[in-house]
Amino acid sequence: MSSEFKSVAIIGLGLIGSSIARGVREYMPDMRVTGFDASDAARAESRDLGFCHNVMDDAAAAVTDADLVILAVPVGRMADAARAIAPGLRNDAIISDVGSSKASVADMLRSVLPNHVIIPAHPVAGTENSGPAAGFASLFEQRWCIITPRGGDNAEAVQKLATFWQALGAKVEEMDARHHDLVLAVTSHLPHLIAYTIVGTASELEEVTESEVIKYSAGGFRDFTRIAASDPVMWRDIFLNNKDAVLGTLQRFNEDLTGLQQAIRKGDGEKLEAWFTRTRKIRRSIIDEGQDDPAPNFGRRHS
Ligand code: NAP
Repeated sequence: MSSEFKSVAIIGLGLIGSSIARGVREYMPDMRVTGFDASDAARAESRDLGFCHNVMDDAAAAVTDADLVILAVPVGRMADAARAIAPGLRNDAIISDVGSSKASVADMLRSVLPNHVIIPAHPVAGTENSGPAAGFASLFEQRWCIITPRGGDNAEAVQKLATFWQALGAKVEEMDARHHDLVLAVTSHLPHLIAYTIVGTASELEEVTESEVIKYSAGGFRDFTRIAASDPVMWRDIFLNNKDAVLGTLQRFNEDLTGLQQAIRKGDGEKLEAWFTRTRKIRRSIIDEGQDDPAPNFGRRHS
């Protein structure tokens, strides 16, 4: 599959930006890729790694030829990035982003760049690693990319962006931005908050030493630590920008947790077993959908 875009500029060359660049080079070799990152070190590293045709020292200069511009910076830095590219943009450039929360970012982009077509997107793919070296071309393969246009947005631009993501290997779905934020609050933001909490709590327990927590982590804790190792700046910004949906979901979670707490206290094994049976089925559905590895222990290799 090829894309109708001829030249993409990627602003922010970390895990996601560098993965897009690598994917374009591999799957859309006719397209030109220009990059920019606010960090001197990330620009230098990106030049060494060579996944862009050109890495510029200035954001506006990076976008002058681009018919597609993708902002791949932390959600809290999107406004700065949009302002910085504004003077260099072609009139017909389509602007997109990959932010993990959509409604507030989309509103901001439309107000900073009122004369451009803005089609926000969120590839639901990632790892706990950050930076230019962390990216890889196949990151988006068989993963969903959610595009969140407004009703009445340029349908041709939406279609071109969808084709671009499909060429990177993603499956594309369109969704209202607020609904996206609610869905992701449940499937991504709350799980991260729980992981950040449990790993922090375990490290502060007085009766259990930190070395014991690490030594016996295979009991389940280890899987939370992978999520809790995710980028602190990125996740700070996601919680600040998807506040309402996260707080609503957290309220519901607290109620369910209290219900399970009561079941344990009252010795209500039936309730616990019914709950755990239902959740096990959800895990099976995720594997059936091809969204995770069916191998035992998440496919970790055994010695
Ligand atoms: P990352 O690896 O930390 O890379 C972000 C890069 O953007 C950093 O090099 C950062 O430099 C740079 N940057 C910050 N402000 C900038 C600006 N104004 N102009 C240009 N560059 C700037 O982050 P990432 O994981 O790729 O995430 C990027 C975006 O993708 C975020 O919005 C995130 O919500 C979204 N996303 C992430 C994942 C994931 O799993 N990681 C998945 C889907 C979507 P400094 O380090 O110097 O600030």
